[in-house]
Amino acid sequence: MTPTARIDRVAHGWRAKCLQRLVRLDLPVPQTVALPALTVRGIAAGTPVDCAAIMAHFGPAPLISVRPSPENPDWGGPATVLNIGLNAARHKALAERHGQQAADAIYLRFVQSYATHVARLDPDMFAATAPSPEAVAAALQVYATEMDEEFPQDPAKQLSEVLRSMARAWEGTTARLLRQAKGAPVDAPLGLVVQAMAQGLGQGISGSGVVQFVDPVTGEPQITGRYLGQGQGRDALNASQAMFLTRDARGPSLEEIAPDLIKDLIRHGAACRMRLREEMQIEFTIEDGRLAVLDAIKVQRSARAGLRIAVALAEDGVIPREEAVLRVEPRALSELLHPQVDPRGARDVIARGIAASPGAAVGRIVFSSHAAQASAARGEPCILVRRETAPEDIRGMHSSAGVLTERGGVTSHAAVIARGLGLPCVVGADLRLDGKNKRIHAEGRSFGEGDVITVDGTTGQVLAGAVDMLAPALDSHFQTLLGWADEFRDIGVRANADTPADAATARQFAAQGIGLCRTEHMFFEEDRLVAMREMIFADTSKDRAAALARLLPMQRADFVQLFEIMAGLPVCIRLFDPPLHEFLPHSREGLRELAEALDKPLSEVTRRAEALTEFNPMLGMRGVRLGVVLPEIYDMQAQAIFEATVEVARRGAAVVPEIMIPLVSARREVELVKTRVDAVAAAVRVRAGMDFDYKLGVMVETPRAALRAGEIAQHAAFLSFGTNDLTQMTYGLSRDDAGRFMNTYVQQGVFPEDPFHILDVDGVGELLLIGAERGRKTRPDLTVSICGEHGGNPESIAFCRKAGFDYVSCSPYRVPLARLAAAHLAL
Ligand code: PEP
Ligand code: MG
Repeated sequence: MTPTARIDRVAHGWRAKCLQRLVRLDLPVPQTVALPALTVRGIAAGTPVDCAAIMAHFGPAPLISVRPSPENPDWGGPATVLNIGLNAARHKALAERHGQQAADAIYLRFVQSYATHVARLDPDMFAATAPSPEAVAAALQVYATEMDEEFPQDPAKQLSEVLRSMARAWEGTTARLLRQAKGAPVDAPLGLVVQAMAQGLGQGISGSGVVQFVDPVTGEPQITGRYLGQGQGRDALNASQAMFLTRDARGPSLEEIAPDLIKDLIRHGAACRMRLREEMQIEFTIEDGRLAVLDAIKVQRSARAGLRIAVALAEDGVIPREEAVLRVEPRALSELLHPQVDPRGARDVIARGIAASPGAAVGRIVFSSHAAQASAARGEPCILVRRETAPEDIRGMHSSAGVLTERGGVTSHAAVIARGLGLPCVVGADLRLDGKNKRIHAEGRSFGEGDVITVDGTTGQVLAGAVDMLAPALDSHFQTLLGWADEFRDIGVRANADTPADAATARQFAAQGIGLCRTEHMFFEEDRLVAMREMIFADTSKDRAAALARLLPMQRADFVQLFEIMAGLPVCIRLFDPPLHEFLPHSREGLRELAEALDKPLSEVTRRAEALTEFNPMLGMRGVRLGVVLPEIYDMQAQAIFEATVEVARRGAAVVPEIMIPLVSARREVELVKTRVDAVAAAVRVRAGMDFDYKLGVMVETPRAALRAGEIAQHAAFLSFGTNDLTQMTYGLSRDDAGRFMNTYVQQGVFPEDPFHILDVDGVGELLLIGAERGRKTRPDLTVSICGEHGGNPESIAFCRKAGFDYVSCSPYRVPLARLAAAHLAL
């Protein structure tokens, strides 16, 4: 291969292209011939190539290697074969020149690799033995017995067989499926690279090694690698007697014996980084003190290393910022935001479920929120295991390191809350919970309270015991990359945040505001729950007003805190949504305690609780329906919002609160709520002697609201699509129960993906388009957004951006992913 040869990545593959660049950089690359994919395809189909001519190209009695060169290094390829050309005569000559043992070692190695990769013999037939003439003879004998012919002695025949076998292996079904899984097209081509062997044998400094200039796990600049005297290929990586490259307290290094060679390697590494615009791992050989660079491949890296490398390359001016942003996969970010199971450790998987909230957590099993709180009080990390979680588990979830449920899908209560809290969570796991005996049974094993498990919410696995973890990496490189992403993206990103802690997380991740504050989550604290229950059980409107009056200052304080944390950024507050029965205890014991607390007979409390029970609570008295039937609740919330606005404004911060009405399906609902909210605003203005602005908007989460968006928008400054409920209602598919059969549905191809996870663009998406279009027709300045769980999903963000949405809103921990995904779309 010459610097001017026409080597093309598609025609010859990435390795050939890369080697040519090394040649152009004047690096000491041994003589190389690139076989184009067209030739390789012909070889696979049986077209002969003139291997004697190729051999002749490398001079008299050469030894050569053949390496795969697909278009993309991630697509793999057949194993490299070294030392082609070795035969009895060459073995003898090598023994005379370099000693018997060295010659035996490489001949043995060639026979074994030819036998396994080309003749496809079982590797177990070639027991690992020390190199010796006897071992060579034994290997040749095994070959002859199994193949019914002597080991081929003609170098041209050897090469021809190697080429044929590599070309065929590439066309095999397994290889094809493997590379297709990595995004390769069905007919992905394979080039091959034939190269003269640099032997790594000799009297002077001779051997081979591998060097890279960054840590593959952290991406930190650092020279790592190994060198093995009298070694070949990548031997040094597995050999116990391999040396370090640079001076190291742990043992001898190449730098001590050949400081100039290390300097050369560092120089070559820097040249590769500049010219190939990538951190490369270099494979090298030293033959009697002469350095040869055989190959350079992209350093394998973790997600965090990938991010750091991309930022460093851009900061050094090697690649533009746009490219650095594009080089980091948005989904890989979640690996940086949460602790992860160390990929280098062993995994004892006991159950699998839906990966509902990323990150991993280790803790002792607890089966109740009460036990979780007790565990937290003892400072002992715990994993809350429940059949499914309910609002009353929120405190328990707060106290847990991770959550595991037997039931539920990606938008179940546990999943949504865990994502909001940044808590690792697996839902719908294939285990059986025996609540009575406080045990879980999975795959024939059983675990009880206090047993340590690991929940891996990134993969959906549940592991026995504690495993090694990697800490989150929210460092300056992370901030830098996301800062660049913000420069390029053209759709807003807000966070769904219910509590001051969520809001602080949202700010930390640079969300541009709160797109959804689910106010009901503010009522689950112990003291509020009591007032809430008093309100629910009030017999007269006077009693109800008294209970609401107790809730008012608590809500006002919540909003003051949110407004202050968000420091002038928009905050969209959704009025109360869930059915009231969610605030009632579910067990008999709980009802008894409640009766005691309310000083009412148990029979009455039970009767009232039963009266609130609905067959289909998700389609029952919730959302705006509650607001229409019991308007005092929304009145109280509006008052709290406006009074908080006044309080914060008095301290000098301007806030324009956004109030959002949930579960609307008719214009009249909006009119009714708007009239009352406007009246509350007027009253607060008068009392405070101060003016303020606010926006009233509608959450579009019923199909009818999307269809009637034109008239609904007459009374709404913004529409925000709640795609969780909208998906549920469009499909007629319960978001809490879908987990039970979703896998079957996806496997059978009924749904391409779980529509609660990836927006169903055909159906639900059409409703989004209709809603946005009809709404904007009525009100061209209408703000349109999405706040369902889909808001943090790259594909859904792409859909919303294309439809001209103003922003997406997602869980705080998905904000970085959304910012990066949005930048990718704009670039
Ligand atoms: C929705 O329905 O999409 C939504 C965001 O509201 P929630 O999940 O609280 O029902
Ligand atoms: Mg909803």
